[in-house]
Amino acid sequence: MLGRIEGGRFDRALVGLYAGWQWGCTVRRAERVEGLVHYSDKRYRVIEQRGARCTARCSCDDAVARGVLCKHIAFVAMAELAAAVAARSAYRQLPGLD
Ligand SMILES: [Zn+2]
Repeated sequence: MLGRIEGGRFDRALVGLYAGWQWGCTVRRAERVEGLVHYSDKRYRVIEQRGARCTARCSCDDAVARGVLCKHIAFVAMAELAAAVAARSAYRQLPGLD
């Protein structure tokens, strides 16, 4: 999926990562979970999971009008990768280096 995101959108997502964009999930009903990106006064639904089916599709104009994977989806992918790398790094941390 990440290979389908155009480079400029990755750049804008990286800016968002450093600007403190937030990402989290909300359980709407049993079997339905939404992943949301929010910053300033903007809020976009980027992932929807219904049962076992998970879809990455943002509600922003870029994704809806052009049918592309947008900077918000790129941001979620990068934020999740960063969290996974941080967790692995913490696991590998040598004793006494706090
Ligand atoms: Zn978007």
